[in-house]
Amino acid sequence: MPARQKSERLGATSPSCAERRGAAAAEAGLPGSGRTRAARAAILTGVLVAACGTGPSSPSAVGSCGPFPPWPSSEYVLPYPVGTAYLVLQGNCSGLSHTGVYQYGYDFDMSIGTPITAARAGEVVVRRFGFDDTQIRDGQQNYVMVRHADGMITGYSHLTNRVVVSVGDTVAAGDPVGFSGNTGTSSGIPHLHFSMSSCLVPNDCGTRPLTFRNTDPNPNGLEAGRVYPARAY
Ligand SMILES: [Zn+2]
Repeated sequence: MPARQKSERLGATSPSCAERRGAAAAEAGLPGSGRTRAARAAILTGVLVAACGTGPSSPSAVGSCGPFPPWPSSEYVLPYPVGTAYLVLQGNCSGLSHTGVYQYGYDFDMSIGTPITAARAGEVVVRRFGFDDTQIRDGQQNYVMVRHADGMITGYSHLTNRVVVSVGDTVAAGDPVGFSGNTGTSSGIPHLHFSMSSCLVPNDCGTRPLTFRNTDPNPNGLEAGRVYPARAY
């Protein structure tokens, strides 16, 4: 089936030097369970910076990031339940692993098992599971993709191996789509990688700037190092 082929392809085309070095970070024991959120953010940044530096494959894109759609009228809400709040470990155009076609991704700091919800109504078009949270190599990623009415597709990655939706399911904004985990190219740090594209394989079409209407002002997208509460919408 095309969707399966594409999903396999996505898993095999994960990004960046930082992601490829994730296994090494995990082996070094960096994401210790007792660490604070701030420490975890610093660790992730440190890991990614050490891995990627400022080499030609990871140019600083800060100056060319955006433009972003107006956040108060955004079609999208945060991909976690109302009443919860999470730290953004890595924002857009970071020059780390969110660069190039992946520049408009967000990494949310979430422990394994955190509920993940649809950021907008749509249809589940890809569901890939089967890996556990010790499987953090390229091609070992669990994820879900949801296509929206205008054809845009949101992706929810590094999920734990717990299936809650099927391909073809219709979801409303806020409906469960999975649980956060530490699978695939997670750099060994449990988190949700979230992005929006116009196709199933971001490598082909890139990612799109995205804002969220149910949280604090985010005119230039969510900022790394800040905690964003999901409010009622
Ligand atoms: Zn990411």
